[in-house]
Amino acid sequence: MGYKHIYGPVPSRRLGISLGVDLFETKTCNFNCVYCECGRNARYVYERGHFVPPEEILKEIEDFLASNPAPQSITFSGTGEPTLSLDIGFLLETLSRRYPSIRLTVLTNGSLLWDPEVQHDLLPASLVVPSLDAVTEEAYQKIDRPHKIFELEKVIQGIIEFSQKFHTEEKKEIWLEVFIVPGVNDDPSHTRRLATLIQQMKCDRVQLNSLDRPPAEAWVKPAPESVLHGIREALREKGVIVPIDIVKRYTVRSELSRYHQDVEVAILEAVARRPMRLDDLSVMLGRNSEEIMAYLDILQREGKIQPVIQDHEIFYRRR
Ligand code: SF4
Repeated sequence: MGYKHIYGPVPSRRLGISLGVDLFETKTCNFNCVYCECGRNARYVYERGHFVPPEEILKEIEDFLASNPAPQSITFSGTGEPTLSLDIGFLLETLSRRYPSIRLTVLTNGSLLWDPEVQHDLLPASLVVPSLDAVTEEAYQKIDRPHKIFELEKVIQGIIEFSQKFHTEEKKEIWLEVFIVPGVNDDPSHTRRLATLIQQMKCDRVQLNSLDRPPAEAWVKPAPESVLHGIREALREKGVIVPIDIVKRYTVRSELSRYHQDVEVAILEAVARRPMRLDDLSVMLGRNSEEIMAYLDILQREGKIQPVIQDHEIFYRRR
């Protein structure tokens, strides 16, 4: 069965088996990150609004869970900044009541966490993962390229304030994501300020992430492992005591074979949202790579997908 608003479950590098929820139909963001997997913005969206009917999303999740094993996480991410949706609070609250044992995760660029209404909307989530890629104005403009009304200091203070309010119960978690772009935010002074700010937050983990898929801007490269390890060590030396993870690619195949009966539909849905490698699709669908390759050949010949080469690797995206 094809869905419009949910996708996967995908093998998330951080969340395990994750059913994605996309609150938008086209890219909808107040940032225009150079590493964005959805490509460049056609325009900025900086005001909160209603984008897709929340009842449709709930119905799709209900249908999915009626005939599939529960995923480890229902994750709000997709083709934009989830907190721009005025429906996110209603959705989180409804899902937390209906499916209390599934983790509800929100991946956010953190830009709206100063807003009391957004803070309130996110309270039913189990895990919020804000990004903080830049702690200097120069890095902020170079990496995140925000709409001009989003001032860096306000964004940082918003993340700090939210992290303290969100931790009302033991089960709630905040993981801070830092996307490292070599040559922009990997120098010692940036890492020093980052360490100071992390210590002002109430976060449970720090996740150092780096390029894994074709970015919006071709000049962005993956950070070498040695750079990520160096930043982790520097953060520790500066007093960050929470676990610091280096995000790795997910490689467990077996559990995912229980999902996805219709391989072709699943491939098209997956590559419509993010470019994926043959290996990613093979893991996601729980099928061997020869079988997936046969589907990819046909879909490519039919003009439904196209290969993109990034750092000597082939990714497939929807045409
Ligand atoms: S990576 Fe996220 S925050 Fe950045 S432009 Fe893409 S959707 Fe927006």
